[in-house]
Amino acid sequence: MRRHRHAKIVATVGPATHTPEMLKALFLAGVDTFRLNFSHGIQADHAKVHAAIRALEQEVGRPIAILQDLQGPKIRVGTVRDGRLAVAPGESLRFVLRGADGDARAIPLPHPEIFAAVVPGQELLIDDGRVRVRVTGIEAEAIEAEVVIGGAISNRKGVNLPGTLLDVSPLTEKDRADLAFGLDLGVDWVALSFVQKPADLIEARGLIGDRAGIMTKVEKPQALDRIEDIIRLSDAVMVARGDLGVEIPHEDVPGRQKELIRACRLAVKPVVVATQMLDSMVSAPTPTRAEASDVATAIYDGADAVMLSAESATGRYPVEAVAMMDRIIRSVEGHKLYRSIVAASEPGEEETPPHAVATATAELAQAVHASAIVTYTLSGTTAARVARKRPAVPILALTPDLGTSRRLSLLWGTHSVRADEVSTYEEMVANATAHAVEEGFARASDLVVITAGIPFAVMGTTNNIRIAQIPVT
Ligand code: PGA
Ligand code: MN
Repeated sequence: MRRHRHAKIVATVGPATHTPEMLKALFLAGVDTFRLNFSHGIQADHAKVHAAIRALEQEVGRPIAILQDLQGPKIRVGTVRDGRLAVAPGESLRFVLRGADGDARAIPLPHPEIFAAVVPGQELLIDDGRVRVRVTGIEAEAIEAEVVIGGAISNRKGVNLPGTLLDVSPLTEKDRADLAFGLDLGVDWVALSFVQKPADLIEARGLIGDRAGIMTKVEKPQALDRIEDIIRLSDAVMVARGDLGVEIPHEDVPGRQKELIRACRLAVKPVVVATQMLDSMVSAPTPTRAEASDVATAIYDGADAVMLSAESATGRYPVEAVAMMDRIIRSVEGHKLYRSIVAASEPGEEETPPHAVATATAELAQAVHASAIVTYTLSGTTAARVARKRPAVPILALTPDLGTSRRLSLLWGTHSVRADEVSTYEEMVANATAHAVEEGFARASDLVVITAGIPFAVMGTTNNIRIAQIPVT
């Protein structure tokens, strides 16, 4: 079973889709990676979904990636009196570290790190920026503020502090417990929310090691300031436009998206564009024109994958949303301007031998009209280097490592297959051509281009390219 598109689809699982039947329907409609959102739900329910996806993987015979998304240090107000407090511009407000002591207009904000970091004049954004207040005074355990944009503040709404580097780890106690749980389940990717600085990745890597790939969610302006180091220390990146669009002005998000995609391509790290892509499909069977255009833009920008959040987790039309994404991606990739647009945004690259081999592989495959590029890859890096060139020819990534085969289902243009290791050159060619036929990429007398590191089973040695013809049997 092969898909006829290069870019990948990530879908968040939730109450609308957590049954085996719905998961299968989503996979058949085009999902390559399932996201378990640990901001919601309990561990036991995530474990059930995890098991159902692994069973689905067996049934369909294709590796599927599971992405565990950790909640991270999302700051929230506590509970307010009557569950909801209406505030109007110009009014004054009080945020308190501990209980509100009967003051109906005091809003609990149980986060000491905020009290340590805020300064007068700064704005706090509440409920995705719907309500804005400006800090007017700070005491040890209270913050005085004036309402700038009014609205209602209800229980547990999120608070953002744009432009403030908070002294928090991206892994809270809950995250650490969820992470241990996810790693024991065997998730393939772990997404870290609200990464602020390179040290956050080092801390996470210390806990995760190589048990899962680390995906950094870029949703804080502080992360943008150190983005090159952050990308280098990550295995993948998510352009998390939901929170990013609260922390930086709306008009700056599209440009940042393009920058991040380029930086990730340069660094050979898969990049996912996320949030509100087909948002109106939460309640309608078709998207707006603007949403269709948004998905298309991410593909023209060269993203590896696009993601569905509420559309697939809680929406009324999850399967339709996936099918819509699939159609938009295929339409873009078939458009006559697509190749030139993606080629024009290709970043310059380091001139190392493995990169040169990957570039030559992609160019050779296109020049000889090969049916597939077959890569032998242990960690997945060889496949990623070829994918970075965004070749017109599909990439068949053969790996002996089950985890690598799953993680690669996030990578642009790559159809991964778990395959036994080969030990001789002849075996490599025979094996590559056999898989190309079996997986539906090539037929008798077609050409494939094979790239591998020789000697085999030594990481980081991609040094060989071979054109092979599928034998006529
Ligand atoms: P979230 O992350 O859905 O966990 O908030 C994605 C985003 O902020 O865009
Ligand atoms: Mn977020």
